[in-house]
Amino acid sequence: MAKENLECSFCGRKKSETNLLIAGLDAHICDKCIEQAHGIVLEEINTNQKSNLDQDFSLQKPKAIKAFLDEYVIGQDYTKKVMSVAVYNHYKRLLQPKKNKDEIEIQKSNIVMVGQTGTGKTLIAKTIAKMLNVPLAIVDATVLTEAGYVGEDVETILTKLLAAADYNVEKAQSGIVFIDEIDKIARKSDNPSITRDVSGEGVQQALLKLLEGTTVNVPPKGGRKHPDQNFIEINTENILFIAGGAFDGIDRHISKRLNMQAVGYGASKLGAGIDKENILQYIIPKDLKDYGLIPEIIGRLPVLSYMNPLDKETLRRILIEPKNAIVKQYETLFSMDDINLSFTDGALDLIVEKAIEYKLGARGLRSLCEAVLTDAMFDMPEGDEKALKVTKSYVENALQKSTLKKLKAAS
Ligand code: ADP
Repeated sequence: MAKENLECSFCGRKKSETNLLIAGLDAHICDKCIEQAHGIVLEEINTNQKSNLDQDFSLQKPKAIKAFLDEYVIGQDYTKKVMSVAVYNHYKRLLQPKKNKDEIEIQKSNIVMVGQTGTGKTLIAKTIAKMLNVPLAIVDATVLTEAGYVGEDVETILTKLLAAADYNVEKAQSGIVFIDEIDKIARKSDNPSITRDVSGEGVQQALLKLLEGTTVNVPPKGGRKHPDQNFIEINTENILFIAGGAFDGIDRHISKRLNMQAVGYGASKLGAGIDKENILQYIIPKDLKDYGLIPEIIGRLPVLSYMNPLDKETLRRILIEPKNAIVKQYETLFSMDDINLSFTDGALDLIVEKAIEYKLGARGLRSLCEAVLTDAMFDMPEGDEKALKVTKSYVENALQKSTLKKLKAAS
């Protein structure tokens, strides 16, 4: 065909009617058709991605989410319930069909959990991620600094999430980020203007953008941003942020507020009903503000929950009940050497008592069991004995040895 007679093989436009006509092997395509085809491709990708999402995680109803949490997390019923609803709503929002202008926009339900260390905050976040089959990044707020300071930029949170998602951007964008020790970036002083507060308010400001939902250029390998690095663009709009912190001393703020309220109308009723052993249950967003979180951050973490301290009974249940309970793990380890391991009630009680005595909490249960069983795990695989019954006196004897002193020193 003569050059001037060329036409688009898709729409039939003459070359003179197009801005650009690209030649293929046996055909030509004009700029208008390219544009149109590009639109079709984008639409197709969008639909596929949405259905990928549908396939990849199974969105369960709140009761089913709670039931799953129950298998791994003992107690903490209030938080498990709040969490189940928040997660359900978050992912409903995510599966909402493409927004048009008139549609009601569902806002994110980022969560903040307040409670002593070792009460199961990280465990809850991990379990939710496991259930939904979405990537999870656990980051420690204490290492974060404002861009430009020594420490990690806030964007490295997303680098971790990207790695957890095997560098699948789409997956990362619907993942979960657990920010531990959020209380450590509380503003240290009530006067924000004295000096630059490297690890405090500045970091909160930087975090704010991520929580709000923004597009961030993420260095895929982490570390500092530098000019020649390639960035991956990540949109945080659909990432669920869960923050956790011990907020040591926040009970004073809560008590103060409760007492103040108690002076007013209905005072006697309020004062009498307050459970002083577990003041955290009365926490409200204002307490976080008084503690030093900026109001904007609190606004972006609209779901607030608290963790109960672990009492003796809960610790005992943690030892034996969860799907991967510590005792079950040791039983499995021993059974691999054909040894039948069992614990008497007295032995379990003593382990729990020691965990409380040494102020080790749930984390200590594992180190205590390790201390109790190390000798047996060393000797028994090559011995003839095919059963080990751990009794109270066995625990006592084992802890009398050197490990006891070590644990005490660590506590
Ligand atoms: P936190 O994040 O609150 O400091 P973690 O979730 O890391 O505490 O808990 C530490 C460990 O203690 C967990 O790995 C888990 O084995 C155990 N644990 C703590 N709380 C619970 C709980 N409520 N149910 C079951 N295990 C728990």
